[in-house]
Amino acid sequence: MKILADIHTHTVASGHAYSTLDENLRYAAEIGLEMMAMTDHAPALRNTTSATYFANLGILPETLHGVRLLKGVELNIINPSGEIDLPVEFLEKMDIALASLHIPTFPPATRAENTSAYLKAMENPLVDIIGHPGDPRYDVDYKEVFRVAKETGTLLEFNNASLVPGGFRQGGDAIILEIMKMAMEDGIPVVVGSDAHFYTSIGNVSYVETMMKSIGFPEELVLNTNPELLLASLKRRKCK
Ligand SMILES: [Zn+2]
Ligand SMILES: [Zn+2]
Repeated sequence: MKILADIHTHTVASGHAYSTLDENLRYAAEIGLEMMAMTDHAPALRNTTSATYFANLGILPETLHGVRLLKGVELNIINPSGEIDLPVEFLEKMDIALASLHIPTFPPATRAENTSAYLKAMENPLVDIIGHPGDPRYDVDYKEVFRVAKETGTLLEFNNASLVPGGFRQGGDAIILEIMKMAMEDGIPVVVGSDAHFYTSIGNVSYVETMMKSIGFPEELVLNTNPELLLASLKRRKCK
């Protein structure tokens, strides 16, 4: 599978990542990516950057080192009502927004509450992608998540970092595989993301790819193989 776009990467601004935007884009160019989204952690997560950082993304170039830059964010879903941690007026100006559950900003709750957090976040037209579903620390009704993802046009991310042995979210393989099979059966497009916190991980989705191969997941459903289609499939674009 030839990945041409990475939709989930972090820079030093995230507080626990180690490369600059320039280093990330240089490497993206080197490995042949056409598009890369910068998606630093939103302000509710401790030690990440401030809201002002996201308000100023407009000063960044559209393209650097030949790679199209999508200016984005990885939002935190902070409660079962699906609230996220940046104001609408900031989000509207961005190219892409992922929303994820993280332990410090949403401690695992009941199955109903965890599921509700995802469902309500997906109703937000400015949430394009649910980041790393399948975290085994959250009990979630993924059939419901999948149904509402389809209904709202929210994309689900297959996150490489979630499958790295010894990683924070390890142990979710079976759940991730189940979500992958649902997408395959219904022919629903998905995205893959490296969730790189250091430049050498950019574009690396090898664990996701291995899982996809194991079930014969159709490449054409992976939007990262077609950056223009990926862009057109983002909810914020489709809503306009
Ligand atoms: Zn992170
Ligand atoms: Zn995350």
